[in-house]
Amino acid sequence: MDLRIAHLYAHFLNIYGDRGNIITLVQRARWRGITATVQPIGLGEKIDPDYFDFYFIGGGQDKQQQTIAEDLVLRADELHKAVSSGAVILSICGGYQLLGHYYQPHEGPQLKGISLMDAHTVAGNRRMIGNVVVKRDDGTTLVGFENHSGKTFLGPSLKPLGKAMIGNGNNGDDMFEGAVSGTVYGTYLHGSILPKNPHFADELLTQALARRHGKFTLSALDDASELAAHKRALSLPA
Ligand code: GLN
Repeated sequence: MDLRIAHLYAHFLNIYGDRGNIITLVQRARWRGITATVQPIGLGEKIDPDYFDFYFIGGGQDKQQQTIAEDLVLRADELHKAVSSGAVILSICGGYQLLGHYYQPHEGPQLKGISLMDAHTVAGNRRMIGNVVVKRDDGTTLVGFENHSGKTFLGPSLKPLGKAMIGNGNNGDDMFEGAVSGTVYGTYLHGSILPKNPHFADELLTQALARRHGKFTLSALDDASELAAHKRALSLPA
């Protein structure tokens, strides 16, 4: 069994070490004997929507977002096709913002998004920085940290990833954090998010593998240290 990962704009959107999510996915697959390969996708590189199981796009400053936004729009059809064939996308912060309809930064033109999620983002007057604890509908928690001025607002049918119990979440007003649309996930959680949230990492891994290999349950791993880090992060101040 194998897992094919596309790392979108790896050299531009990697603020706060978001590539740690790629490392986690690859390692959690390999610990189960699953071959995982990662292909960085740079500016101008075409994507075969039938090939990859998992796409990752990290966070970035407004400048990096401006650099890649136009190119991402050129990939919109390919990514929509990929998602309709069951591929998983995990997007963090700046990458998350560009999966919505648009991101309006403080300065410069509005950045068109690819509308994979019914959301939009406008830069706020303050940076939202600090630790975040998210409670999901199933009662599980996600921990990480946030650093963004963008305020993301979800459309009426777009589900949040969860509620921000600590921290600001999408915009500091509705206390939603992140967004989930089918197999497309967005979140403001840096950290990276996956190492300290192994349950979430496996949720994404299971979905991505199901695309070509069908539904099955991943074997359990010894997540003692990951869960200890998760528990410690739960008690950190905002
Ligand atoms: N530039 C965006 C903002 O400030 C995203 C920041 C990030 O990716 N951490 O909201």
